Amino acid sequence: MATETAGAGSTSNVTRPVTRGWSIVAGSNDPCPTATPEHAFKATNPASGAELPIDFHPATTRQVQTAGEKAWEAFFAIRAKSPGDRARLLELIAQRLRGLGDALLQIASGETGLTTTRLMAERDRTVHTLLTFAEVVRRGDWLRATIDRGEASRSPVPKPDLRRMLVPLGPVAVFGAGNFPLAYSTAGGDTASALGAGCPVIVKGHPGHPGTGELVARAVTDAVRAAEFPPGTFSFLHSGGEREKSIGATLVRHPCVRAVGFTGSLGGGLALEKIASERSDPIPVYAEMGSTNPVFVLRHALEGQAKSIAEKLYASLVNSNGQMCTCPGLIFASRSDGAEALIRAMSDRIEAAEPAPMLGGRTRTNFLGRVNEVAKIEGVEARAGGPQAGHIPPGGAGGGAKHPVLASPALFRATYDVFVKNPTLLEEVFGPAAVVVICDTDEQLAEAATRFQGSLTASIFAGGYDAAAVRQLTTILEQRVGRIVYNGVPTGVEVAHAMVHGGPFPATNAPHTTAVGPMAIERWARPVCYQNAPEAMLPPELKSTNPLGLRRLIDGEWTDAKIERA
Ligand code: NAP
Repeated sequence: MATETAGAGSTSNVTRPVTRGWSIVAGSNDPCPTATPEHAFKATNPASGAELPIDFHPATTRQVQTAGEKAWEAFFAIRAKSPGDRARLLELIAQRLRGLGDALLQIASGETGLTTTRLMAERDRTVHTLLTFAEVVRRGDWLRATIDRGEASRSPVPKPDLRRMLVPLGPVAVFGAGNFPLAYSTAGGDTASALGAGCPVIVKGHPGHPGTGELVARAVTDAVRAAEFPPGTFSFLHSGGEREKSIGATLVRHPCVRAVGFTGSLGGGLALEKIASERSDPIPVYAEMGSTNPVFVLRHALEGQAKSIAEKLYASLVNSNGQMCTCPGLIFASRSDGAEALIRAMSDRIEAAEPAPMLGGRTRTNFLGRVNEVAKIEGVEARAGGPQAGHIPPGGAGGGAKHPVLASPALFRATYDVFVKNPTLLEEVFGPAAVVVICDTDEQLAEAATRFQGSLTASIFAGGYDAAAVRQLTTILEQRVGRIVYNGVPTGVEVAHAMVHGGPFPATNAPHTTAVGPMAIERWARPVCYQNAPEAMLPPELKSTNPLGLRRLIDGEWTDAKIERA
């Protein structure tokens, strides 16, 4: 377990998890002799602005190279492991993650400003994700094992024996987002699904939560050891300070890295995709990026429920101070008294809200920049918060040392015409800000649905008489988003078999898949067909004897182990 006894000067001798400030390369968390101390960086507590005491050392180029090489070696050893072994690895990671207890929540809260209550829910969700993938890997039907049996006597040519399944791609580089230090970071969905598929993982640590990342990485490393997987199965590379961008780029260019999972900003996702596509052997990058999550509030919903919808939207908007990929950024409402009541109710709540921590100075600077950009648009009215949104401390908007990094929510109102003329309104404002766009007719609402950029979600609030408009919107939204929410808000992504957390560009660069839910595992594998293979050469999943007892598609019919044996 990633624990050490509290050191000299400590008032207690209890065993507690610690971070050392060094990357973990194929099981080794030791100081790197060639690291340069002047490149060390520190984390900042956004709630107080104070720098945290530990020096984190960005990975050296040699460490990135070694992580890739060791991952490649491990890949072949993992191919020889059974699905049960891989499931057990995921279960051990889940167990070790839980074992980090409150120490993990406190470190994560100190680095991100997120509350321990929110982080506890995120930790539990991460554990649930790991266990879900363990179950998926054990069951094995994600591999889509398919057999078309040969027919030597077929005329005029014999029919070959064809057997197909998904085969893991190789080592995967994972880039987590700053706003989900657990669920979309070191042991989050990308890591869990890639390990489940049989791919070693190299995590590029997020500079906003390096201590959290290292602590989780030590728990994963410990689980790798306990499960008797090779050490190269998992590496964690610290990155931050001056070298932050080059570490990620070196990793994506590494010849042993065969795919990339990214969660973060549009700019970051596109930069990594470009690097990957310029390799002599381009590799896939699965980038989950920004999203505006439009909400449509129809006429009859506004008649009786304006205030309760406003309440739900407000709660969704300020959840984690708006730093959610599913934060509702655009609200399209039918012109009515109800729409104005909704704006008033949301504005009242926003005006009364205290400034809350942002994830870091960079996030707040970007947020304030975007809010001020929106506020300057002719015809956009600031209804709450407005251009001054965000608590600006004496040290300046960047949130320097010793100044809390805070921001307040903001709400704007615009007409449909203003929305149409200003494409900047289509772009994500990452933080607690939304624009209510007043639409004169149902046609304008439908037209608006064809205009916004690809998004993770869209929500429709409707009353009983809005059925025709809901039908029309649903048809349009199927083409624009990954998840359509009826009479509900977009925040709150359930980790479940039917979940889709994805969508057309720019929400992601791979709209045919999802980052949450079992289908995410398929991103790290590709289909391989074995033709007329001798039984001994076939992977267990495709052997005629079906030693794993998988459900398979044989000669066009789904069957299971019991039926096959009969
Ligand atoms: P970010 O600034 O893009 O950082 C994400 C990761 O990418 C970091 O590790 C960062 O490392 C790296 N990175 C960014 N640009 C890079 C570049 N040019 N070259 C190499 N590495 C690069 O994002 P964030 O601030 O952490 O997260 C906020 C964003 O994530 C929001 O837009 C939010 O909507 C989105 N998000 C999306 C989802 C989803 O599922 N779609 C979920 C959560 C968050 P360095 O800082 O070291 O460069």
